[in-house]
Amino acid sequence: MINIAIDGHVGSGKSTLARGLAKRLGYHVLDTGAIYRGLACAFRDMGYKNIDDETINSFIKDVKVEIFFENDTQHVVVNGKDYTNWLREEEISVLSSKISPFPMLREKVRHIQRDFAKKYDCIMEGRDIGTVVLPNADYKFFVTASEETRARRRFEQNKEKNHTYDEVLKDLRERDYRDEHREIAPLKPADDSIVIDNTNMDLEQSIEYCLKIIKK
Ligand code: C5P
Repeated sequence: MINIAIDGHVGSGKSTLARGLAKRLGYHVLDTGAIYRGLACAFRDMGYKNIDDETINSFIKDVKVEIFFENDTQHVVVNGKDYTNWLREEEISVLSSKISPFPMLREKVRHIQRDFAKKYDCIMEGRDIGTVVLPNADYKFFVTASEETRARRRFEQNKEKNHTYDEVLKDLRERDYRDEHREIAPLKPADDSIVIDNTNMDLEQSIEYCLKIIKK
């Protein structure tokens, strides 16, 4: 199987790039952040409040996660409940970033990700795909852009949520900080990944750039 890893910062456009590339290559795409988000939804639903090793371990040990695709939408089902419609809630963005550093939880997600990569030619996007989940991926990209550019894009996309630009920037900085400074699988480019700073690039340019490298 051909596996392509795309990692990057919050709001860097990695999901859009992954979907665009997958369409052109006819590959599957796995949004791994959605798995952490689905777990965060279940964690909240089950009434857990504390975020510590003991609580996370008791939560994760019997959790069952299923992923399926319908009309280009990736569904995340945890313990039989489809959480797809809740994944993008603000509270879930923050909660997923708070539960994601815990080793047992990451181990569970790692298995799901590796099984997927064994079954399909795929593009997998997340934070630690090139470094930890698929260290032998055929191609690795790390996507970023200036903080201000990423915050501005997020702000424009989510105008209906009535957040100020400053709030969006603060949330983005905090989530990046947690991802980059956790002990396990911190967000960073793999030594052999190609860094794409798309501050001054549009989606089509980023797709073309990656395709050129892949076709080589
Ligand atoms: O990519 P997205 O913002 O949907 O991811 C939600 C959260 O899941 C991130 O803030 C990050 O903490 C976590 N995550 C991770 N490793 C991944 C993908 C996401 O830790 N591979």
